[in-house]
Amino acid sequence: CPECGHVSAENRPTQEKFHCVSCGHQAHADTVGALNVLRAGLVHRDAAPA
Ligand SMILES: [Zn+2]
Repeated sequence: CPECGHVSAENRPTQEKFHCVSCGHQAHADTVGALNVLRAGLVHRDAAPA
């Protein structure tokens, strides 16, 4: 979950939908996936030497 960080298969009631069972955040699953990729990329960038 991009809002609270909760990770659970139950957060994905369908392939397309994301509904966090912890905080109730709802989004399109692709949006959540994109945010996760973005965050991972930012972490990688920040960790790499300039
Ligand atoms: Zn959440």
